[in-house]
Amino acid sequence: MNDNYVPCLLCKSDSHTEVESHFGDPYRASNSITRTVICNQCGLIYSNPQPGLEQLEQLYSGSYGGQRTNVPDRFYISRKDYDASLRIDFIKRVLPSLKPGRALEIGAGAGNQLYALKSLGWDVEGVEPTPGYASFAREKFEVEVIEGYFDKNIYEPESFDLIIMAEVLEHFPDPVDLLNSLHGILKPEGYIYIDVPNVLRPNRFRLKEYLHGDHLTFFSPKTFKLAIEFSGYSIVEHKWHYYQYALLEKSKSKKQIDFVIEGDNPLEVLKVLKRPRFYLVATFIKRSARNLIIRLLGPSLGAKSLRKGAHLRNFFRGW
Ligand SMILES: [Zn+2]
Repeated sequence: MNDNYVPCLLCKSDSHTEVESHFGDPYRASNSITRTVICNQCGLIYSNPQPGLEQLEQLYSGSYGGQRTNVPDRFYISRKDYDASLRIDFIKRVLPSLKPGRALEIGAGAGNQLYALKSLGWDVEGVEPTPGYASFAREKFEVEVIEGYFDKNIYEPESFDLIIMAEVLEHFPDPVDLLNSLHGILKPEGYIYIDVPNVLRPNRFRLKEYLHGDHLTFFSPKTFKLAIEFSGYSIVEHKWHYYQYALLEKSKSKKQIDFVIEGDNPLEVLKVLKRPRFYLVATFIKRSARNLIIRLLGPSLGAKSLRKGAHLRNFFRGW
């Protein structure tokens, strides 16, 4: 299936240790292996081999199983609305004087985040490869979302005040290349918001389920920070628990990264991944309760940033 073996996506070392491998991943073609390795130099965890372009296109067209279907369901919309309000709270807290401007979301999903920003006065646009999600965003949320993959060449230079990549960076075959490509379209004083999972706090009991096939990189706080600094950005704020949340701005000077000193110790990371995850019992209960509340209350729960949910409640009346 045209799988590609790749060197470390951060430090380019070819030396790595296998963490886990399995067949039959719901996000991959059935005859394809999903193999995750850890770089022996910088400690980055990444999928190796990576799925080829053809596989990625099939995945994001909604052809594979897992949770990814071609049309968002109501629960997905409610959950993403909740997530969108948390992100807006984070951005407002870190950058209280940030005025609405022009925002781009890469991997816009069904459009919840763009809709939330639009409601706050932002001029928004997005790009999303899954056709049913892109059309949902356009039709239901009335936000401009291009169906397809991100292409920096279609945007005017230095045209965005804010670029959002929520649960997206880990899906790209080359996250550093993606971050580098954003310099040209981000305004000099612009910001990038990113969230990615934290591999040192896996939120699944079984490693095989955590290291699933649509995620191609698994960042720890250290390797995430390296990827950011290596791409010429500096961190305004970076918080983490199961997920990592960060706001970035362009660096004034490009930092030289020493991967050996600043990366993770692979043996320590492997120890963390193999440790029993008792904390997940409490997390499971908390997440189930949250999901139940989201199901019962629908989108109004997450809309506290959006005039106490009026927008989304009105929106759902007609759906
Ligand atoms: Zn490396």
